[in-house]
Amino acid sequence: MMKKVIIIGAGIAGLTAGVYARQSGFDVTIYEAHSIPGGASTSWKRKGYLFEGGMHWLTGSSPKTALHKLWREIGALDDNTAIYNRDPFFVFEHEGKKAFLHRDIDKLQSHLIELSPADEKEIIRLCRDVRKFMKVDMPITDIRGVTVKEKTNIPISALFSMLPAFFRMPFYANQTAKEYAMRYKSLLLQNLCRSIVGDDNNATGMVFTLSTLAKSDGGYPIGGSLGMAGRMAKRFEALGGVIKYNSEVEKVIIKNGAATGIIINGAEVSSDAVIITQDTLVAIDTLFDSPLREPWADKMRVEIKPMLNTFICLGIKADLSDVHESIIFTCDMPVICAGKEIKEIGINNYAGYEGYAPKGCTAVTSIFAGDSYEWWKEQKINGTYEAEKQKLAENFIYVLEKKYPQTAGKVEVWNVATPLTYERYLHSYKGSWMSIMGKGAKMQSYPSKPNSISNLYFAGQRLTIPGGLPVAAETGRKAVQYLCRDTDMVFQGDY
Ligand SMILES: Cc1cc2nc3c(=O)[nH]c(=O)nc-3n(C[C@H](O)[C@H](O)[C@H](O)COP(=O)(O)OP(=O)(O)OC[C@H]3O[C@@H](n4cnc5c(N)ncnc54)[C@H](O)[C@@H]3O)c2cc1C
Repeated sequence: MMKKVIIIGAGIAGLTAGVYARQSGFDVTIYEAHSIPGGASTSWKRKGYLFEGGMHWLTGSSPKTALHKLWREIGALDDNTAIYNRDPFFVFEHEGKKAFLHRDIDKLQSHLIELSPADEKEIIRLCRDVRKFMKVDMPITDIRGVTVKEKTNIPISALFSMLPAFFRMPFYANQTAKEYAMRYKSLLLQNLCRSIVGDDNNATGMVFTLSTLAKSDGGYPIGGSLGMAGRMAKRFEALGGVIKYNSEVEKVIIKNGAATGIIINGAEVSSDAVIITQDTLVAIDTLFDSPLREPWADKMRVEIKPMLNTFICLGIKADLSDVHESIIFTCDMPVICAGKEIKEIGINNYAGYEGYAPKGCTAVTSIFAGDSYEWWKEQKINGTYEAEKQKLAENFIYVLEKKYPQTAGKVEVWNVATPLTYERYLHSYKGSWMSIMGKGAKMQSYPSKPNSISNLYFAGQRLTIPGGLPVAAETGRKAVQYLCRDTDMVFQGDY
């Protein structure tokens, strides 16, 4: 008889695990707390506007990458999914001067030198390194000892071509993006560098981002986050998998050191294995009768620095096609978000995206990065939460109107998602959806299965720092490889 597998969560990790587990011959049911698939990879509609609430770029969108095959196998991308490679990726504007983050590395190099000839040496060094990093591909491999229908390995030649980048990695890993940015004399270039991955991440993320863009990867699948999650859910269900929505799992049942099912609405549902894709950091403390105590879990509790944000979206009754698609601008009058002054405002402008707004109108989103969880929680307790959301939206709208007068009086919809919103929907630590890879940090991974409990697997963004969609999918695939190895099944992925 087919072995029964329960997956907790229908985010990208859960759907990935679901598709591979079905393809490998398991009877799979996904339990999802929300009413739709996707988790953090989501979008929502308000009064005719579609707000992209998740992905801005997808590593592995290029067919030349190893990850692309994975996205195809799980139905995230298919023959009908058009990929949009935004170029320039974004623009940084300060006091009327603009720095463009061009994808083409030669074009970027000459543009930056033109902006700041005094920084030529540093610019050339960065672009030389980006060319080295372009050879590095996120590895998709098979775990040791698993039987697979088709082997997935990294060719030795590819490993050799990655060596020059590996030698340069410590240089970037041992400084934050902000520290790296200070190497430039030009304030505009400093700001550009700081904006790519944010101040607190180490500079490796910045070089990887530039190299991903330079090799025409990191595109936006048309239809966005929700479209992608929808395609994956469809693939899973077409394979015979079942998704139970509005179904929050309360506990994983452990009997004699093995996972034997879950508890939902107070009732037991039994299974031969359980794959947890809820944020691992939360799951280890909440999904068992007592917190999971293993060295890696204790390490995770101490080491994780969560990445989170406050998100604002606007529906504007104006066509903003003449405004850059993605721009960060400095302003004298700050936006106050969670008690902090923000003078660098980034917007994503979806004027050019069909179906994202009524005709002649524009959907605009903005991300205010930073750990504002406790601040918002305090507002909730004080009863000022809704008023503060409104204050933030009004402040943001005012600043936007000063910058782009064509938006004045034209905002007809606003919506603010705080870390508490994300926490409510994702059940993740502080509502976070990735982890910060700080100074000196490596791409650290946590195990896919605990030592002390059998038939139990973990997957999701938290398992490899910094996380994101590729990690969610890769760990979902890996969890199923462990499951196959433990149950003597052949791992299969097809499209
Ligand atoms: C604004 C924003 C922009 C982003 N941009 C990008 C980007 O451009 N590129 C990129 O790669 N990544 C991006 N990310 C990150 C990426 O979306 C996430 O890292 C990824 O989607 C995480 O997937 P996951 O499956 O691991 O977790 P989640 O998406 O958190 O999925 C977990 C799922 O489990 C469900 N769940 C949790 N607990 C339970 C329970 N007890 N019972 C039942 N169900 C449960 C949740 O409802 C959720 O659906 C962005 C995220 C955000 C928020």
